Amino acid sequence: MRSLRLIVVILSLFMVAMAPAGMRLDPPKSPTLRLGPNLIYACPKCEMASTKSGKCPGCKADLIEIHGTFVYTCAKCKTTADKAGNCPKCGKFMAKAVQTYTCAKCHTSATKAGKCPKCGKFMAKKVLPMMK
Ligand SMILES: [Zn+2]
Ligand SMILES: [Zn+2]
Ligand SMILES: [Zn+2]
Repeated sequence: MRSLRLIVVILSLFMVAMAPAGMRLDPPKSPTLRLGPNLIYACPKCEMASTKSGKCPGCKADLIEIHGTFVYTCAKCKTTADKAGNCPKCGKFMAKAVQTYTCAKCHTSATKAGKCPKCGKFMAKKVLPMMK
């Protein structure tokens, strides 16, 4: 019984040593990856985005979770950029906003253009300003 136990221990040690690199502990992930996907909430009535869930400060409707990406937009000429700064066209300061593609029929949202995964309707691009 004792020898059998020893064999099991040796075998398991052997297997750990022989395990391919991918089987071992994952390398530490970069801090940006550890944060996971950005959770964005939006008011379907006011078409404004927020990073916090809850109720819309404007119309008190429940905020819905949406799929979108943070962009910077110029209020004057509607230029969007992925970095903060001044508008490349008119030099005005660009405000943070959320770019999303939404289905008008079932309110499904996506980060990329295309057809609604639920109903197949074409999703329209929207740039939602952030709530104050
Ligand atoms: Zn609202
Ligand atoms: Zn501009
Ligand atoms: Zn849809």
